[in-house]
Amino acid sequence: MKLFGNMSIINNTINIGNYNINDLAKEYKTPLYIIDEDGLVENIKDYKDNFKSDKFKTEIIYASKALLNTYMANLINKNNLSIDVVSGGELYTVLKSKFDTSKIYFHGNNKLKNELLLAIKNNIGTIVIDNKNEFDLLEELLCENNIKNQGIMLRVNPGIEAHTHEYIKTTKNDSKFGESIFDINTLNLIKQMHNSKNVNFKGLHCHIGSQIFEKQSFFKEVEVMTDFIVDVQKKLNITIDELNLGGGFGIYYTKEDNPFKIKEFLKEYIKVIEKNISSKNLKINKVQIEPGRSLISNFGSTLYTVGNIKHTFGGKSYIFVDGGMTDNLRPALYQAKYEAILPNKVNLKKEYKYTIAGKCCESGDILIKDIHLPKADLNDLLLINSTGAYTYSMSSNYNRIEKPAMIFIQKDKINIAVKRETYYDLIRNDLVIGG
Ligand SMILES: *Cc1c(COP(=O)(O)O)cnc(C)c1O
Repeated sequence: MKLFGNMSIINNTINIGNYNINDLAKEYKTPLYIIDEDGLVENIKDYKDNFKSDKFKTEIIYASKALLNTYMANLINKNNLSIDVVSGGELYTVLKSKFDTSKIYFHGNNKLKNELLLAIKNNIGTIVIDNKNEFDLLEELLCENNIKNQGIMLRVNPGIEAHTHEYIKTTKNDSKFGESIFDINTLNLIKQMHNSKNVNFKGLHCHIGSQIFEKQSFFKEVEVMTDFIVDVQKKLNITIDELNLGGGFGIYYTKEDNPFKIKEFLKEYIKVIEKNISSKNLKINKVQIEPGRSLISNFGSTLYTVGNIKHTFGGKSYIFVDGGMTDNLRPALYQAKYEAILPNKVNLKKEYKYTIAGKCCESGDILIKDIHLPKADLNDLLLINSTGAYTYSMSSNYNRIEKPAMIFIQKDKINIAVKRETYYDLIRNDLVIGG
């Protein structure tokens, strides 16, 4: 298993920063989400140091759907990033943290009236409009509430096909997100936004997918978007001020993944953006990116305890852990792959082939298929790496399983961001309790 950030092997066992994995298991129990906070902060710094230009302002917006709770929102705020949300619930979470609301971006293809109201009444900096109906609804709400100058951007679909898993590919021409740059009505919508007295139309947004490994896809995106901006400016005689290029930078989960180094990529990316802007004579003032997965995922891991080990009649050997698809849906949802280790057996040969399964009543509740590990025993700890993104945020209470706790590890301090759910939490909203 590849170790990231401050994860290391000391005395044949795993440490995260100064903390031994056995002590963490004892103190916080399993399953447990663990975030290497110092590693994460270092990664954020890499983004800030390398995504900058002296030709335009840059802004890094954390795509909070990857992992969000009030602790994470405060951490992002403290490190001077902006944040994007895609639902009223995410927005509420950020509002309940100490986030500067002007740095919140609100995305989503079907923002509900109540969600838009929550946004405009709390002075959210930017609402990223997905479609014309949404814009009409927003205008109505702004008028009714006598709010002027609400910042907005328009999400457009540049029709770029990035090579990634079908479910996380978002900008084919029939994607559900945004308005197509090839659709003539999109120009009319931009004109309407630009002319509206209720909003401050800042520019265009796009996001071409997730877990993308080809730099060229992102460079192509810049080319297509800046060409489109030239077209918009020529046809409508308006200036586009801001360009938001979205996220989607691929990361390492297993040896099958070959991601680019983020520092080098960002430097190249900036150059490509600068070149396109200057050669096309654009007056873009600010360029944004929205990393989610690539910001957090490698700095998260999930710690489990091994329960039963079953050798089936058919010949397969299972390790059953005390979590599963409820705390990490990705393998079941899109065949996502992970690496794992038995942290107290790092020095032993990986002579056995196992499938790691969760405790849910679903045959598909498998975390890792066919992984080589040392011989596993009852009560061994098992650690899965790179689970920072899209795990806790996709977690469920299927089979009425309590969601794990989440801790953030700093050099000399552990912060419990989310406490473990209790059985009572599971019946909290049940209206009939007792006979
Ligand atoms: C999900 C999403 C992102 C982040 O994608 P990652 O693959 O996690 O980097 C950025 N922008 C928008 C609009 C998104 O929906």
